[in-house]
Amino acid sequence: MKIQELLETKLGKTIKEASNAEVYYALLHVVQNMAKDKEVPVKKKKIYYISAEFLIGKLLSNNMINLGIYDDVKKMLAENGKDICEIEEIEPEPSLGNGGLGRLAACFLDSIATLGLSGDGVGLNYHLGLFKQEFKDELQNAVPNPWIEKESWLTKTEMSYPVTFGNLTVNSRMYDIEVTGYNNQSNKLHLFDLESVDDSIVKEGIDFDKEEIEKNLTLFLYPDDSDDAGRLLRIYQQYFMVSNGAQLILDECVARGSNLHDLYEYAVIQINDTHPTMVIPELIRLLVARGIQMDEAIEIVTKTCAYTNHTILAEALEKWPMEYLKKVVPQLVPIIEILDDKVRRKFDDESVVIIDKNDVVHMAHIDIHYGFSVNGVASLHTEILKDTELNAFYKIYPEKFNNKTNGITFRRWLIHCNPELTALLDELIGTGYRENAEELEKLLAYKDDDAVIEKLLSVKGDNKKALCDYLKQTQNVELNPESIFDIQIKRLHEYKRQQMNALYVIHKYKEIKAGKKPSTPITVIFGAKAAPAYVIAKDIIHLILCLQELINNDPEVSPYLKVVMIENYNVTKAEKLIPACDISEQISLASKEASGTGNMKFMLNGALTLGTEDGANVEIHELVGDDNIFVFGASSEEVIKHYENADYVSRDFYEKDETIKEAVDFITSKELLAIGHEENLTRLQNELLNKDWFMTLLDFKAYTKKKEEALKAYEDRKAWAKKMIVNIAKAGYFSSDRTIAEYNNDIWHA
Ligand SMILES: *Cc1c(COP(=O)(O)O)cnc(C)c1O
Repeated sequence: MKIQELLETKLGKTIKEASNAEVYYALLHVVQNMAKDKEVPVKKKKIYYISAEFLIGKLLSNNMINLGIYDDVKKMLAENGKDICEIEEIEPEPSLGNGGLGRLAACFLDSIATLGLSGDGVGLNYHLGLFKQEFKDELQNAVPNPWIEKESWLTKTEMSYPVTFGNLTVNSRMYDIEVTGYNNQSNKLHLFDLESVDDSIVKEGIDFDKEEIEKNLTLFLYPDDSDDAGRLLRIYQQYFMVSNGAQLILDECVARGSNLHDLYEYAVIQINDTHPTMVIPELIRLLVARGIQMDEAIEIVTKTCAYTNHTILAEALEKWPMEYLKKVVPQLVPIIEILDDKVRRKFDDESVVIIDKNDVVHMAHIDIHYGFSVNGVASLHTEILKDTELNAFYKIYPEKFNNKTNGITFRRWLIHCNPELTALLDELIGTGYRENAEELEKLLAYKDDDAVIEKLLSVKGDNKKALCDYLKQTQNVELNPESIFDIQIKRLHEYKRQQMNALYVIHKYKEIKAGKKPSTPITVIFGAKAAPAYVIAKDIIHLILCLQELINNDPEVSPYLKVVMIENYNVTKAEKLIPACDISEQISLASKEASGTGNMKFMLNGALTLGTEDGANVEIHELVGDDNIFVFGASSEEVIKHYENADYVSRDFYEKDETIKEAVDFITSKELLAIGHEENLTRLQNELLNKDWFMTLLDFKAYTKKKEEALKAYEDRKAWAKKMIVNIAKAGYFSSDRTIAEYNNDIWHA
């Protein structure tokens, strides 16, 4: 049957007669069934990608693109008076992730299916997501983000497993989401849930009783962990995820013919960051329960599990007090003790133990000793792991360490989000790049073609206009599409240094006030959620919102400079912002951003990077060359030395430099205090002056200088467009299809 007939059968009326919402739900149903038809049986070995987050974004368009029906459906809908973009708006964005790590997991599932590999995701079905961000009184307000509707991409399955905690046993329920590959098979994302969870226990904002485990277990991703009950809840969630995952994996492998002694020939488990670490002791426990000797069980599991490290920030390498584990997962405690004992017998080095002298369990250490692979996510990051952060482990297990530079799926981050650029590429270099991203290099042949340059600039201009319309509608801000769009969108963290960009905004505001106007107006766009317990991060949001209020309402300044903070930054908003960007802000303190993937999305869409030599920026720099990127700031070696010598004093920079002093002082100026709160602004200023752990002031001068250079370069439109061409042409390396092929060749062998 043709899609129109399928839809109209489902609708019980014609498409013309149906509302946009009715068409959306009918399409959802039809597309879901088409995806199910693409499932293929697993031959032998299967990949299990286990992750606390899957930031998958809306699925309708992505699935239609991957199933190869998007253009036909769009046309058919248009013939029936329906606009596909309006229908896409109906879909709520699944709220199953937080930032880069969760988005990576989503891109990886897409590429695993696209490459025709058997590989499913395993995670949790959070009812209320991370949280929804609202701005009120220039402050971030966190409210629940319910996204699950009666009809959704989730399919309730018959699968259920018992999971026992210290004080109770629950029975899970598994939900599945189809994961379509581009022109290939479908896999699954398995999300575990608990039927007793009760959304109505959430009272003020995102507050709820943290001790009612049966009612709260899968309400939120990363519930507040600033108290004991919150930290215990996180362990409950983690164990619920991995126990379900482990039971599913064992059942599936046995069904495929494994005798469990050969488990590693049937399964490979990729552990995405440390949250799923307990899958290791849990699998050992289950194997022993099924009659395998402890030593052999440990060996089997070590050959099955592989670990991806995402950060060198100490606070993110999870450590749990043994006393918490004894409460929530007492059955794992003797196993963790055996794992620790084996390490202590072999290595006389307190820095590699699992249970330290304070009776605290180091989760990453379990992954490294009892997994067969440890990978970083960009080449600089992996080198830093080997040389410093995990050096003691690298010396023991050099063969386990490897790099897998992150990637992004071009289906979502080019074909779906930037149809105009996609059409131009199709016209110029054919469609081969869709399957083989390296073919984007063919674009280099057009570097000096004036007609192509014109078209490329016109596509960018159209995307900027579309973003202006969207922001007018959604946030009622008026932007000038002729201005330079300078965008920094990512989770709010001091190491990412949104505060440095905000100081630049102050600097520019002051210049304009003093009569020094930029030749082309500048629009600085931010988008970021701050963890609700991260006080300084919320203060940075407050500063940005105060600047937005001050600057956009100042008729002397606003024709030349505007500031916008996007409310509730998520995948849907990223898809609208990235195609419209001129300057991509990637200004983390060198050594701190493991990879970044936002940087890759921007490059692919023809934005130029203004960034430090950090994460995958280093590889972007190598690919595009000095002329096509704006790089500044202290190197990772310098930064690491500053930490080692403890010799960075932010106040010295403040006192020695008039520009820095002026910008930092302005945070508590009468202008900003008239708009914002003294407590927040003063606290942020004090942090910068007395601590500045992520060395904002160290790089501020270099940043300002390089940004001016980028703004000036923008004036020569033709030269700028050539740089855009080089960036797009060289982005092929960052396809997650390349990343996944490497995982499969080097780690999974599936
Ligand atoms: C890509 C992406 C991220 C990661 O951005 P970074 O700049 O790499 O930190 C975070 N959130 C969303 C919604 C994304 O799409």
